[in-house]
Amino acid sequence: MKKNITVAIRGFKDIYSETEIKYFQKFENIILNITKQYGISEIKTPIVEKTELFERSIGNETEIVNKEMYSFEDKNGESISLRPEGTATCVRCALEKNLIFDRGIKRQKFWYSGPMFRRERPQKGRFRQFQQFGLEYFGFDDTNSDLEIIMLGNRLFEKELQLKNIKLHINSIGNENERANYGDQIKSLLEKHKGILSEDQQNTLTKNPIRILDTKDKKLQEILKKLPTLVSLLSNKSKQRFENLLKKLDESNINYIVDNSIVRGLDYYNDTVFEWKHESLGSQDAICAGGRYDNLVEKIGEVNVPAIGFAAGIERIISLLIESRSAFDANSTVVAINHSKNSNHTCLMQLEKLRDKFKNISFYTTDSSSTLDKQFKQAEKFNPKYILFYDDKEINAGQYILKDFEKNQKQEILSEDELFKKLDIINK
Ligand code: ATP
Ligand code: MG
Repeated sequence: MKKNITVAIRGFKDIYSETEIKYFQKFENIILNITKQYGISEIKTPIVEKTELFERSIGNETEIVNKEMYSFEDKNGESISLRPEGTATCVRCALEKNLIFDRGIKRQKFWYSGPMFRRERPQKGRFRQFQQFGLEYFGFDDTNSDLEIIMLGNRLFEKELQLKNIKLHINSIGNENERANYGDQIKSLLEKHKGILSEDQQNTLTKNPIRILDTKDKKLQEILKKLPTLVSLLSNKSKQRFENLLKKLDESNINYIVDNSIVRGLDYYNDTVFEWKHESLGSQDAICAGGRYDNLVEKIGEVNVPAIGFAAGIERIISLLIESRSAFDANSTVVAINHSKNSNHTCLMQLEKLRDKFKNISFYTTDSSSTLDKQFKQAEKFNPKYILFYDDKEINAGQYILKDFEKNQKQEILSEDELFKKLDIINK
């Protein structure tokens, strides 16, 4: 590298490799589609806000606000911050622009996607600028909204992205009183182990004790196992709500692990909290996290609006997609070789029909004035899934000659229906 060149700031990542860009674009297409399927509206908000917004919502004693936020004094003396997450901004916008009570519906679903900023220690899967895709459901209070959000996440991670080894971890952190009582239990347990706590952990224990539960410190995790779970200490009302949700998840065939260490790092959560985790990401294993925040809107806007949401870390998801080269990465390239003598343009006309029907497949053609051999060599260069041969006999009979090039299978003659079925699979 040249000596005097200006380089990017530590923890801020350029995204330029063809593979990464390809996966980002695929991810973006999928979220556009999935949010449409669930009737969720997009919202694009600024990346800077008044610092007080985050202090009031996320909480002054959280790591994010305390240590990780990029805050600056603007030229007019006002403190402003790069957004560390999307929920507070979304709530601010929805209240300010009166979106929640729009048309008297009182229920609104929003999604966003964009960069967030946290000044943490950069490492694999942890950046200072990273992207999140998030959802916020306003005005929803029953467990059906918890279920729908989890269903959406499941569809996104399992069905659409086909990520393997993803597990949904779920917990209920009840209400503020219930958490405070549990916090006291944690404090009295750790009283006997003060010696092993770092200064940071001591601090968390004093100011926000339940946050200790999501520690990545193995020794501390072992000690915390002595505690009864938070769920087991909840009031009947909170417990029943959680059991009701778990029953609905069971009935919907959604797998989950009830996990006492899921407590979330932000103050505004209550009742249901969850994370999707992946086993290959090490300590940066969470790809998506969320939960209910029934009191946040009231805190910011003095109106009572129950809500639930989640946020997914796009870089971590992309790295999994690249690693797994899943079926999501299906080769969807088809090369057509035209060997017809009588009807030279039939091939192009038929390809147009296929393009109408299979919008995500790339159809390439070879130079039909070349010999079959040369055309085959040209086709090879595209590394296609299939090669489709056009010849007079089959064109007249309404049939197709298809070779699975990827699996190096013998070519076969297919009816239109049979061809469509095969193309349907790679039309992703
Ligand atoms: P972690 O425990 O990994 O720090 P978190 O609880 O701070 O995560 P959230 O605030 O819940 O994370 O954000 C939701 C998701 O955003 C995370 O599950 C993760 O995938 C992603 N994420 C959070 N911080 C970063 C970061 N610094 N770099 C990359 N992705 C991040
Ligand atoms: Mg964090």
